Amino acid sequence: MNKNDYHLSRRQMVVQQLETRGIKDQKLLEVMNRVGRHLFVEEALQSQGYADNPLPIGENQTISQPYIVALMTEALELTGKEKVLEIGTGSGYQTAILAELCYKVCTIERIRFLLTKARKLLDELQYYNILFRLADGSFGWKEEAPFEAIIVTAGAPAIPQPLIKQLAPLGRMVIPVGESRGSQTLVKLVKKKDNSISRFDLGGCRFVDLIGGHGWSSDNNKSSRW
Ligand code: SAM
Repeated sequence: MNKNDYHLSRRQMVVQQLETRGIKDQKLLEVMNRVGRHLFVEEALQSQGYADNPLPIGENQTISQPYIVALMTEALELTGKEKVLEIGTGSGYQTAILAELCYKVCTIERIRFLLTKARKLLDELQYYNILFRLADGSFGWKEEAPFEAIIVTAGAPAIPQPLIKQLAPLGRMVIPVGESRGSQTLVKLVKKKDNSISRFDLGGCRFVDLIGGHGWSSDNNKSSRW
């Protein structure tokens, strides 16, 4: 595929996968029409870069389906002024979308290979408002807190309490939560001024596991939490 083919596929993705399913945020639609998702997958998969599904990125992990990226990002209600915490850098595609729409992104990934690759690409693409960290993101990033928005792109057994603590008053968090591995509800939380939390369910989803102290055990055969 050449540059024009990718451009056309991206436009079709925005119209057919995002707008028709109800994504309305015009700035977000413009950004997803501009950022090349195909760049975030390996060369052999680039022709599928705008398909309506997740794609493998190595290490048994995936780049999320474009619609899920849009749905989660829209739910964060970004205005451009926020410091955003992202847990699960993966390919870096969601990180790029966030970097376009907020003031600063603090992104955490637990797999060194993925973090290094994503960082290199995002540097090449000249995103200068991203801080990277190799760690268990289920504990959040205390030194950088509070965050006006938090996005978790891996499925958690329950909402990690450190993340609630690190959410700023009036902050928004989106996270897939499910009591069994591989099947979750996408949950949006809003912290009110008095620090109480409102919860909204955005529908069913299927993410890879959030592995860590406030996530699942890294042993795939165990269904217990850490
Ligand atoms: N948003 C990513 C993208 O656009 O490519 C997709 C992320 S992928 C679905 C989930 C990522 O979360 C994986 O890269 C995985 O290694 C990472 N992850 C899982 N548990 C984590 C944890 N406790 N801390 C940080 N990253 C974690």
